[in-house]
Amino acid sequence: MPRPISAVIHLQNFHHNLSIVREHVGLSKIWSVMKADAYGHGIEQVWQALAETDGFAVLDLHEAILLRERGWQGPILLLEGFFQPEDLDIIIQYQLTTALHSTWQLDAIDKMKSNSTIPVYVKLNSGMNRLGFKSCEYAQVITRLKSMPNINAITLMTHFANSDIAMGTDVPHQMFKQFIDGSLPLCAANSGATLWCPETHYDWVRSGVILYGASPSGKWRDIANKNLKATMTLQSQIIAIHDIKANESIGYGSKFTASKSMRIATVACGYADGYPRHAPTGTPVWLNGVRCALLGTVSMDMLTIDISGIPIVEIGDIVELWGQNLPIDDVAEVAGTIGYELMCALAKRVPVLYENN
Ligand SMILES: *Cc1c(COP(=O)(O)O)cnc(C)c1O
Repeated sequence: MPRPISAVIHLQNFHHNLSIVREHVGLSKIWSVMKADAYGHGIEQVWQALAETDGFAVLDLHEAILLRERGWQGPILLLEGFFQPEDLDIIIQYQLTTALHSTWQLDAIDKMKSNSTIPVYVKLNSGMNRLGFKSCEYAQVITRLKSMPNINAITLMTHFANSDIAMGTDVPHQMFKQFIDGSLPLCAANSGATLWCPETHYDWVRSGVILYGASPSGKWRDIANKNLKATMTLQSQIIAIHDIKANESIGYGSKFTASKSMRIATVACGYADGYPRHAPTGTPVWLNGVRCALLGTVSMDMLTIDISGIPIVEIGDIVELWGQNLPIDDVAEVAGTIGYELMCALAKRVPVLYENN
């Protein structure tokens, strides 16, 4: 028998979450963000569950190519643009839309031999200082793009650094608004702004993490009223049960020492499966309808939980590390990270099961 760990991907919940996004954005179109192998879910297996979207946004060219080869004919956006001039051949061949954030990219398009035209998203750096043109040069860049024969559609784009906090989009949105001229389409909102800043929806939103049922803020309570559903459940089983006495310790470094008699269970899940090693004692784990507490240090292949006081626990009982019963954000928050990171970090060795219900 294989190790009893698996990740279950709930394909129906993608339909559901997309419909929630649709309710929020009304007539705006939706880029479903599928970068990082669909946030760790497997782009190849899940894209069809989101086929009612208006477009897919990815980072890697191979993700875009995969979508085309599997039959997606709608728009595909390269969120980080292209990485070298040679990539333009692929962009043309596969009819991709590319972000533009640097002058060298415009120069490369100008130098193209082909007379094909490319749709572009020209990015304003509205304060994140990662990618994009500064506001003092943005208007000139737009003017140049309008004059370039190889450009066929220009959308203005920006990305918010703080869409998950109250008024976090005010300043960057103000900056972006200066460039709205009524003729070019606009795209600004990520998941946080999709949920919380309707005035930024414009022509297209770029929604990622909410399609996977997790919170843009990393805190489940912030989306608890949104009826989003988890798309990934990480589950395993109890493989050993022990009774320990006061003063006995658990795991590497003996980081947890019992102050009284306890019943503990060993679960076949560790950091080599993608579970965060930094999850401290007290991190929630779901077992037989209740939340138990993680105890001591997470090992490579195992972790230990407190089952004292839980009436009947047996070897082979299913444990949910995160998912339909235990929000990934609740685990992430205690472990000092965000749901995004946990889902993206699901390890290759974990078998993934795709379910339609
Ligand atoms: C990842 C990404 C998104 C989606 O972010 P979420 O917070 O998951 O919605 C949107 N836009 C850009 C440019 C991105 O890189």
